[in-house]
Amino acid sequence: MRKLASIQKIKSLEPIKGADAIEKAQVLGWQLVVKKGEFNVGDLCVYCEIDCLMPDKPEFEFLKSKKMRVKTIKLRGQVSQGICFPLSILPAGDYTEEGLDVTEVLGIEKYEAPIPANLAGVMKGSFPSFIPKTDEPRVQILQDFIDEYKGEKCYITEKLDGSSVTYYMKNNEFGVCSRNLELIEDDKNSLWKVARELDIENKLRSLNKNYAIQGEIVGEAIQKNTLKLRGQTVFFFNIFDIDAYKYVDFNEFISLIELLRLTTVPVVDNKYILGNDIEELVEMSVARSLINPKSWREGIVIRPYKEQFISGERFSFKVINPKFLLKYDG
Ligand code: AMP
Ligand code: MN
Repeated sequence: MRKLASIQKIKSLEPIKGADAIEKAQVLGWQLVVKKGEFNVGDLCVYCEIDCLMPDKPEFEFLKSKKMRVKTIKLRGQVSQGICFPLSILPAGDYTEEGLDVTEVLGIEKYEAPIPANLAGVMKGSFPSFIPKTDEPRVQILQDFIDEYKGEKCYITEKLDGSSVTYYMKNNEFGVCSRNLELIEDDKNSLWKVARELDIENKLRSLNKNYAIQGEIVGEAIQKNTLKLRGQTVFFFNIFDIDAYKYVDFNEFISLIELLRLTTVPVVDNKYILGNDIEELVEMSVARSLINPKSWREGIVIRPYKEQFISGERFSFKVINPKFLLKYDG
């Protein structure tokens, strides 16, 4: 589970050119701006990640104009992601352990973009238990992990800012799911419309195997359609073998999607050797989209060539392009 707010150490502090009142801090793999002199290197603080929705309390009053949401901002030319508070904002009690999740005690919730009606659909049931939901952790909390797996042969895909969809065929039954629900067939729902347009039910049936394919629906009326696409379509990023309960490896994924005459998310690099410098990875994420070079890409997703589960979690993570957040994350 993602910790929206947790006790973390100030890893480093650096001056910002031309700024007297603020300085640049590092917490986990995040860079952010703090008040000068408020913290020393090694101090513990309450670190609130971007997308925290803070409670409407006097100490968070300054976020009112942002509707209480912690966002990526730029101050004096410096990208700042997250907010550090002194431990004194915590209620009385023992909250001094590094890494401790304090999201709940502070009454913080996660900001979720509203879901437009054409994507929401009508619920048939909860998300099937035989398929994992789509999700990606952020590189900024994975320093120890990438230190350990530095040198792994990986591939990189472009991360698209649309809406997650899962299509599956299980024992001849076809299903369509949004990020969290299975949906009843409905010709007003974009996930079903795209399925019918691309003939996904028949294509999956032709494989004679229980598979789920997962992708991102993008296009008009979806998020901000930053790629300025006409209509709506889907780019796939996962094939999950339901009976074996595992994702297929990259090569097989590419050939199966090709066989089905569907489209994968853009492959940015198919032989990337994993590095462990988070700042470098964030710099790597800053580029234009391969789908529309006029737009920033949302980011990248990095995965190993051969699928790996490490203590129950899939080896896969996202690196979000800060320029995308600054431009579109309003
Ligand atoms: P987020 O959108 O920040 O919650 O990040 C996780 C989501 O990114 C996943 O649930 C997918 O729906 C979506 N996504 C978009 N492009 C990709 C990609 N290339 N690889 C994996 N997931 C992706
Ligand atoms: Mn998304």
